[in-house]
Amino acid sequence: MRSIQHYINGKSVSGGDRSGVVFNPSEGKQQAEVALGGADVLQQAVDAANAAQPAWAATNPQRRARVMFRYKELVEQHMDELAELLSSEHGKVIADAKGDVQRGLEVIEFCCGIPHAQKGEYTQGAGPGIDVYSMRQPLGIGCGITPFNFPAMIPMWMFGPAIATGNAFILKPSERDPSVPVRLAELMTEAGLPDGILNVVHGDKEMVDAILDHDDIKAVSFVGSSDIAQYIYSRGTANAKRVQAFGGAKNHGIVMPDADLDQVVNDLTGAAFGSAGERCMALPVVVPVGDDTAARLREKLVPAIEKLRVGVSTDPDAHYGPVVNEAHKQRVENWIAKCADEGGELVIDGRGLELQGTDGWFVGPTFFDHVKPEFESYKEEIFGPVLQMVRADTFEEAVRLPSEHQYGNGVAIFTRNGHAAREFAHRVNVGMVGINVPIPVPVAYHTFGGWKRSGFGDIDQHGPDGIRFWTKAKKITQRWPDGIVGGDNKDAFVIPTMG
Ligand code: NAD
Repeated sequence: MRSIQHYINGKSVSGGDRSGVVFNPSEGKQQAEVALGGADVLQQAVDAANAAQPAWAATNPQRRARVMFRYKELVEQHMDELAELLSSEHGKVIADAKGDVQRGLEVIEFCCGIPHAQKGEYTQGAGPGIDVYSMRQPLGIGCGITPFNFPAMIPMWMFGPAIATGNAFILKPSERDPSVPVRLAELMTEAGLPDGILNVVHGDKEMVDAILDHDDIKAVSFVGSSDIAQYIYSRGTANAKRVQAFGGAKNHGIVMPDADLDQVVNDLTGAAFGSAGERCMALPVVVPVGDDTAARLREKLVPAIEKLRVGVSTDPDAHYGPVVNEAHKQRVENWIAKCADEGGELVIDGRGLELQGTDGWFVGPTFFDHVKPEFESYKEEIFGPVLQMVRADTFEEAVRLPSEHQYGNGVAIFTRNGHAAREFAHRVNVGMVGINVPIPVPVAYHTFGGWKRSGFGDIDQHGPDGIRFWTKAKKITQRWPDGIVGGDNKDAFVIPTMG
């Protein structure tokens, strides 16, 4: 049985009395075990990080950027290997797994510009003989705690900017698919990153609590479910750390009567069911405005959903693969039962799907119509291949639904009417908005982050906010005495005083 170990100071390190099971979701079988560490293992990573970080912070930013350039090339060279490994532990199809790596790499590309991105500000002559400038200095040791659903992209969102700005970093990836994060760290070593700057420790709550309580860790970035995000935010900030914590989602797609329904159906099938719905920017709720729009949409949507092909993650023709584990399959099927009990019309039922020759954890695409805002199954995140249609009578109602929902990660509107789109984008109480774009994930040089229970803290992921989060600004006000030390004008050399 393959055993996945921690990666500390450029080496594989064992540690922790417990281990976790890593499955292959397409086969429904264990494929590896992962070491689950605690405070002792963490301390080894902190010691390595403390030893290495001052020299790395003192390395000029161009040289730090060169590591990022080499890293980008190396990850590209290893794309197939990384995607296969990722797909075998997560269950997403290979094309999706490559997308996972690629979206992370785009943050690394942004980090190649760190000499420019980390530059400070300067005002000459802010007062008589006075200049003011600022510099952004690394915090020391940063930490990332990441979810199972993007085991390449989300770690890279965090360690890219943290390392590029001169920090050491400790990554605590999801214990459900931990192999790719370790491979990503090994490739950093190969790219020339000094040992101790990027460490990976595995574990569950015990490790997370050790991180939150460790005095030497100055900042924690978290992505996962909302209750855990709130816990991380509360405990981390109570321990005087900088914390950003991103949570769950229930994104809505508003369909106006003038929308291009062929485009909507194409976008919706990808956004609702791709990656088995296990994306925080999936679109699991569709809101047609007006009964006529709903009827026209349903007529096109149902056959498109019925055509979706579910398969093992290596099947090149599959639209999506299994969900991550048996417990999650059960959870998704329970939500389907609950939504039907609550009065939703179960138009397509994906429960009980079995693929011949495998014991994988598959859930077929599921579609509900006539879902109401008071249903529990609407209020909570299902995180599976389930699309719920909530009909709205008016545009106002369509703005209100996502605005009043507990989550506020992403939302999309489909329309040909610029005024409606503009009004919607201005008024909706959600962090990321797509206009005729179903998955409105901002590109790497912008920032990513949801609102309400989708995001705790005030600084987003990557882009300019990534630089802000992983550095602290030092503000310098300077005044130099005039005169030349040791020259003729010695009497003019006085210590400046206030006023
Ligand atoms: P999760 O909350 O179960 O786990 C996330 C991390 O927290 C893991 O590293 C895990 O080991 C750790 N953890 C789990 N339970 C813990 C506990 N009791 N105490 C301390 N740490 C704990 O999330 P998941 O199932 O891996 O990921 C799916 C969730 O992540 C979904 O809710 C999804 O919407 C969300 N997500 C959000 C975003 C975003 O940007 N907002 C992005 C991706 C995923």
